[in-house]
Amino acid sequence: MSIIEFRKTSKHFGDLKVLDQVDLSIEQGEVVVLIGPSGSGKSTLLRCINGLEQITGGDLIVDGISVREGGRQLRRIRQEAGMVFQQFNLFPQMTALQNVAFGPRKVRGLGRAEAEAQALELLDKVGLKERAHHVPSALSGGQQQRVAIARALAVRPKVMLFDEPTSALDPELKQEVLTVMRQLAQEGMTMVVVTHEMSFARQVGTRLIFMEHGKISVDGNPVEVITNPPSERLKDFLQHVE
Ligand code: ADP
Ligand code: MG
Repeated sequence: MSIIEFRKTSKHFGDLKVLDQVDLSIEQGEVVVLIGPSGSGKSTLLRCINGLEQITGGDLIVDGISVREGGRQLRRIRQEAGMVFQQFNLFPQMTALQNVAFGPRKVRGLGRAEAEAQALELLDKVGLKERAHHVPSALSGGQQQRVAIARALAVRPKVMLFDEPTSALDPELKQEVLTVMRQLAQEGMTMVVVTHEMSFARQVGTRLIFMEHGKISVDGNPVEVITNPPSERLKDFLQHVE
């Protein structure tokens, strides 16, 4: 069974239709790269997956659970789908270690020592063991984003959702974040990534989706789609991002 399944999923904000009967199945191990013009619904699509936004039509099944169920089931979905935002969103008053240990303590009920030991392992994985006791403001943007990735991983999600994770970073800092993401993909993590980093899409993506006006307009192999865009609009779009 698919890990994520959009079934004629719609999302309205008042009269504004932001997702328009989206059908999309994502299998375990896929790295789906999502691109499209600003306002096309990319963030909303991600946010619906972990219940940050409520769908208004159709259904959306994540790891066998409908996001419509709400309550405890929705909390389970949130645990299954970790999210990384453009603006890091770390707790500013906590150290990197405390940020990463927070979720397991709250969600998985781990004791402090165990949660912090795991957090340290995760910080090591993203290359930040030495920065464990720094607060976010003492870290570079790239380091903060790697802490955010470690924090999302700490609750052992089955899927990782990334919403323009490198857009707020200087070019040299982007790479250190992309390297961590590449490593995650190689380990087999299922990922849905909104990004305009086309080299990442080509190298790591198993699938490229182009969204327009709340609909999926192109869905295919990244290398094929980028080399030979099947629509003029995608061709035009790619010329502006590359
Ligand atoms: P993208 O990420 O592709 O730029 P979004 O999913 O953020 O697009 O937004 C799609 C559309 O939905 C935009 O027109 C945006 O203004 C609108 N939108 C997003 N969030 C809200 C909200 N909470 N309330 C009202 N409109 C929203
Ligand atoms: Mg967005």
